[in-house]
Amino acid sequence: MRILIVEDEHKIANALKRGLEHEAFAVDVAYDSDEGLSYATTETYDAIILDRMLPGERDGIAVCEEIRAKKIHTPILMLTARDQVSDRVAGLNAGADDYLIKPFAFEELLARLYALMRRPQATQDTTLKVDDLTLNPVTFEVQRGDKYINLSRKEFSLLQFLMRNSGIVVSKDSIISHVWNFDADILPNTVEVYMGYLRQKIDKPFPDSADLIQTVRGFGYRLGQRQ
Ligand code: CA
Repeated sequence: MRILIVEDEHKIANALKRGLEHEAFAVDVAYDSDEGLSYATTETYDAIILDRMLPGERDGIAVCEEIRAKKIHTPILMLTARDQVSDRVAGLNAGADDYLIKPFAFEELLARLYALMRRPQATQDTTLKVDDLTLNPVTFEVQRGDKYINLSRKEFSLLQFLMRNSGIVVSKDSIISHVWNFDADILPNTVEVYMGYLRQKIDKPFPDSADLIQTVRGFGYRLGQRQ
């Protein structure tokens, strides 16, 4: 297994390299973001350990985004010095798979690396896909074929819920409990109204493609083909 470490602090980087080599990993070290990005995009690794705080134009978040933008799905473990929820969220949203707060025990880093490498690569991509419809929960982009679709926030969360349950019938009650918050004013026809909005945007403008939203009378709705 081959690992890339991107970390500007030589002491930490070299200690990690020694520890991982001791565990029989092949290890490359990049001490800045440019070198890290160039290694990550030209070589093949089983996992990347990426420091959040890097000097220069790009920090770890930017490096992570660029790796993912190049469709490289290698598991990324981000090292962060800050124990801030917003920092961890930023790392995960940028495409990191896990994070570790400094200082950390080497054993924990090793355990997390092994856990990341066990995950199937296909699940690394957060984009949901049903037929020719795709939804990216991080960038909020929705596309049918190569056409971008603009949705309101509520339509977006409704579509995301339907896509996560594609092929199965979801009841109105289940839609309400997953898409609307507890305090929301729900009228008896609220779900129908929103399903109507979605149809207008994801099915109606595409007469050459099969309709994705199906009404299953007396039960609810299904997105995509029955499973
Ligand atoms: Ca650093």
